[in-house]
Amino acid sequence: MALIIKKPNGTRDVVPSQINKWQTVEKLAADTAQAFGFKEIRIPTFEETGLFNRSVGDTTDVVQKEMYKVSAKSRDNGKDDEEYNLRPEGTAGTVRAVLENGLLNEALPQKLFYILSCFRHERPQANRLREFHQFGVEMFGSSSPAADADVICLAKTLLGRAGLKNIKLYINSIGCPGCRAKYYKVLREFLSARENELCDTCKSRLEKNPMRVLDCKSPICGEIAKDAPKIVDYLCDDCKAHFEGLKANLAAMDIKYEINPKIVRGLDYYTRTVFEFVSEDIGSQGTVCGGGRYDGLVEQLGGAPTPALGFAMGLERFISVMEAEGCDFISPKRCDLYIASMGEAASRKAVELAYKLRLEGYYVEYDVMNRGIKPQMKYSNKLNSIFTMVLGDNELETAAAKLKCMDSGEQLDIALDDKFVDNFSNALVAEMFKAEDMSL
Ligand code: ATP
Ligand code: MG
Repeated sequence: MALIIKKPNGTRDVVPSQINKWQTVEKLAADTAQAFGFKEIRIPTFEETGLFNRSVGDTTDVVQKEMYKVSAKSRDNGKDDEEYNLRPEGTAGTVRAVLENGLLNEALPQKLFYILSCFRHERPQANRLREFHQFGVEMFGSSSPAADADVICLAKTLLGRAGLKNIKLYINSIGCPGCRAKYYKVLREFLSARENELCDTCKSRLEKNPMRVLDCKSPICGEIAKDAPKIVDYLCDDCKAHFEGLKANLAAMDIKYEINPKIVRGLDYYTRTVFEFVSEDIGSQGTVCGGGRYDGLVEQLGGAPTPALGFAMGLERFISVMEAEGCDFISPKRCDLYIASMGEAASRKAVELAYKLRLEGYYVEYDVMNRGIKPQMKYSNKLNSIFTMVLGDNELETAAAKLKCMDSGEQLDIALDDKFVDNFSNALVAEMFKAEDMSL
């Protein structure tokens, strides 16, 4: 086959045989968020460019190098083309939506979650894509470190419910703009002494955003960063107390962590708490979840000063780690009943009975390929059907058929009358109980 058009570099198709993995993490994420009182929000895929420049920050890699533009011809003659950006992350759009819909006028804290696609023009590699998916949560209104611990606990609970055992939590505090000004001075002095060893990107970061050097993925910068002064040593009293509060809350929940001064996050809006959950099982792109506090962002986007915090979890990486650790995924749904048929009248009966069952929500299939009984049964086996039923002239005449349980080989008589749906439902429930007994 000569494929004429292929998918864009750095994107993925999720084929049906893999979809159960996505359904597993999406369901676990939504259930866990709801258990912590977070409600779902959905936001547009593209937003005005200014939103990302103002929030994510125009000195960040994400904004400088990784954003996708979308443009469309203006529909008003003479007006400029419209230009937007595909979202590189979910926080900026969520904060915009929170303000635009007045969600901060509701009872606080306002707690939201989302599952969405993000777009970044990065160099594609394992676990680094150009279109990827995030599960994220955002909480608005609380400046208490109890909120930071709550959000970290949510992420930890989700990873635990997925069956992951090998994930480490790293925390740090990057203080408020006040402590950062003092820290930048010391850090700049330290880094300037080794300026010519830094990578080109970090040389340019030195002036505007020296903390980003600590997060640089180049080995030389990493080496230099090891001996750099640590921001936790330069926190003001309030930020220090906040960080101590977070540690106490984590200890109260028995959540283990390591303080990692190199965690500074790649986006500009963070203040105080920053954290990451990292796996060592999927190679170098092992950060599954990153988050922190962004107390200044709501005001920066035009709202009243409102403390806020959140995290985003990369779902592709989450699934990769689950695979690496051998975690369970929801099994694909089995076909409840396959109705095989011989002859035209029987095939019409199959259609009628299948329709009645499907109206009640059962997963039922019948032949649409004009195949003989043997290939129909083979297909039913592929569907891993729980029951099969064969309809032919005899069954139509007697208005009765045999329901065959595919696991045990047992056969039950079933009347093809107006009790058919109820009787099938009872047979299926009985079968489910048996299967459950066996698995105990
Ligand atoms: P990294 O350091 O790996 O580049 P980041 O700091 O850019 O991550 P965030 O912006 O905090 O990541 O996004 C949160 C999470 O989204 C990351 O921890 C990761 O799991 C996931 N993620 C980010 N970029 C990508 C990508 N290009 N491909 C797949 N997942 C990604
Ligand atoms: Mg990145």
